Amino acid sequence: MVSSSVLGFPRIGPKREIKFAVESYWGNKSSAEDLQKVAAEIRKQSWTNVKSKGVDYIPSGEFSLYDHVLDHSAAFNVIPSRYQNLGLSALDVYFAMGRGRQADGVDVPASEMKKWFDSNYHFVVPEFSGTTDFKLVYNKALNEYKEAKEAGINTRPVVLGPISFLVLGKPSRSAQAGFQPISLLPKLLPLYEQLLKELKEAGAEWVQVDEPILVLDKAADLAAEFKQAYTKLAAVAPKILLATYFGRLESNVKFVAELPIAALHIDLDREPGQLEEVANAIKDTKIVLSLGLVSGRNIWKNDFNRSIDLGRKAIDILGEDRVIVATSSSLLHTPVTLASETKLTDEQKDWFSFALEKASEVATIAAVLSNSQDAEVGKALEANIQSIKKRRDFEKNSDDTVRKRVAAITPDDLNRKSPFPARAAAQKALGLPKFPTTTIGSFPQTKEIRQARLKLGKKELTQEEYDEFIKKEIQEVVKFQEDVGLDLLVHGEPERNDMVQYFGELLNGFCFTQHGWVQSYGSRYVRPPIVVSDVSRSAPMTVKWSSYAQSITKQPMKGMLTGPVTILNWSFPRVDVSREVQSKQLALALRDEVVDLEAADIKAIQVDEPAIREGLPLRRKDWDAYLTWAVDSFRLATAGVQDKTQTHSHFCYSDFNDIFPSIQRLDADVISIEASKSDMKLLSAFQEFGYKNYIGPGVYDIHSPRVPSEPEIKDRIKDMLTLISPDYLFVNPDCGLKTRQWKETKESLKNVVEAARWARKEW
Ligand code: GLN
Ligand code: ZN
Repeated sequence: MVSSSVLGFPRIGPKREIKFAVESYWGNKSSAEDLQKVAAEIRKQSWTNVKSKGVDYIPSGEFSLYDHVLDHSAAFNVIPSRYQNLGLSALDVYFAMGRGRQADGVDVPASEMKKWFDSNYHFVVPEFSGTTDFKLVYNKALNEYKEAKEAGINTRPVVLGPISFLVLGKPSRSAQAGFQPISLLPKLLPLYEQLLKELKEAGAEWVQVDEPILVLDKAADLAAEFKQAYTKLAAVAPKILLATYFGRLESNVKFVAELPIAALHIDLDREPGQLEEVANAIKDTKIVLSLGLVSGRNIWKNDFNRSIDLGRKAIDILGEDRVIVATSSSLLHTPVTLASETKLTDEQKDWFSFALEKASEVATIAAVLSNSQDAEVGKALEANIQSIKKRRDFEKNSDDTVRKRVAAITPDDLNRKSPFPARAAAQKALGLPKFPTTTIGSFPQTKEIRQARLKLGKKELTQEEYDEFIKKEIQEVVKFQEDVGLDLLVHGEPERNDMVQYFGELLNGFCFTQHGWVQSYGSRYVRPPIVVSDVSRSAPMTVKWSSYAQSITKQPMKGMLTGPVTILNWSFPRVDVSREVQSKQLALALRDEVVDLEAADIKAIQVDEPAIREGLPLRRKDWDAYLTWAVDSFRLATAGVQDKTQTHSHFCYSDFNDIFPSIQRLDADVISIEASKSDMKLLSAFQEFGYKNYIGPGVYDIHSPRVPSEPEIKDRIKDMLTLISPDYLFVNPDCGLKTRQWKETKESLKNVVEAARWARKEW
């Protein structure tokens, strides 16, 4: 019998219950007990629902109120000293680590967040040092396993493996130079042993241990650590399913096959090509192979016939009893259920599967592979064949104009008219002072703004009334920036529901969900648009608002667009056409917009590419191909303007170390980057690389409500000037301000402007 499994489930709840409960707790509107009650209800619902779809292995313990990596840090007492002894409850310490805390005399910034592999999910980076005092404060996997059991559901608990936990972490500020978190493995292992032993004693037959770093090149150097860890753990744990996802095991399979594990999970949605190599590598062991066939990262209906072919191949090598059909990764990256969608057409609905539907898919594929004679299974298979056929027919309707334009792109289309120094000279006309201050684009998205948008949607506001409202918002934002003394202004993006969705809605080729929320970080969820066909622009998208904003001020106004790679990365892409082609189509649409903005007398234009780094393939040998088309797409979008027009770009959480040539090749006149939490490492790397254009490393962290003091910002600037020439430094926050309140925004930007003024005097 082939069995079926789900590796993890969305946390949010079908009606965003968790998001609201967490935020209500943060706002002191409900108690910790209230929050835990909602969490327990959502967990129970998820287990019950997944079970009802016929799935054999149901995950538990992967639920989180903020982030699962943070859960492990809290559970193992990996709590940086700045969060200790603040007189906070364990839950508040946990949230303080995730999002900072500034209340009742407590003032701590948030820990650093990083993108979870190549996804748009962010995890809170654990901090380790030689003195990290590991303790098993609580056993979350055990507690939730028991909770499920009490609800009558037998689950397979999930934990993040010890090696990934350490390797994803970083040395704390107090760590000695050269300290490597992995050196803590011998100290950490006894805690994992205890955790897993307790699970076994409580009756868990299996445990899913995630070691996603096995798909990275660096895991090749950790064979000994894996052997050491899993030999110890297997001796006391339930049967271990070692889970990898998002990439290829490659040569790591050699040492993985020798580990004393009971099952191995691989991602065949991303990397179907690795099936044979992995299956053959474990053939002579007893290891069961869990086939990640149903995508945990996308929302397209699974092509059952294709999955069945792969499944049969695995069965040929390993036999039925050694094959599990699974989701490729946790379903964390997909919305909860298609059943909530009422506005998609029947044709569109037939293309998609969300988390719950995916649970059905794994169960059906497993049943077909087990030669089930069940009539329902036969029906589901037949229905899938029909759906896939209809989608294939739809895919044939391509937009020839767009396809031809992509085919006709020439190298010249990718180049600005002159090199940066000549452009910088022409841009003096902007009249910016030394250390120009600016922001990343958005200003607080207030309740009023969201309500106006809702009312427009419900037709309680006419388009004219809504436009008037937006104009008023722009006036306020412009006035504030003038008053506080910022140099390069923005219009504040009040008209945008989201930096990707907004463009998706205006472009041809996208479709949207009503409830397709996916976690980005903490309680922040996004609703990625879906690319369904060729992309094009039918009319200008932002010119009206940018020109209005420019018309009410004498200061230069920065136009604001989202870049092609980011729109693509933060959407669910098509799977029938390459990402490169989709990105170039987007780039051409944006190029027209950039040229239109310039024609409307907008002298600085920012094209945000916060996702360019996260889209980087996990294996180094795949980088060049990606960076070539990704950077080309950005250049294609921005190169259509005159020298005097200043192009900007923005990147979030950017770990650029290995891709400097590509950052330089983007050739944006100004880039702003997240640097406020990465301890200047990032900037020294920019210096070493010899980065040549203007750069604005964020002077404070906007992901937390905390207000940076003026001296603090001055110190940042001083540090930055040890690495960056004063002629090239822009002064700005590290990201957009949309998630912030006005109060802290005003105070923070005032301090930013004061600090820049001071710098102008000092340098
Ligand atoms: N312009 C966008 C904003 O300010 C950029 C945000 C981002 O890159 N995440 O919100
Ligand atoms: Zn950002």
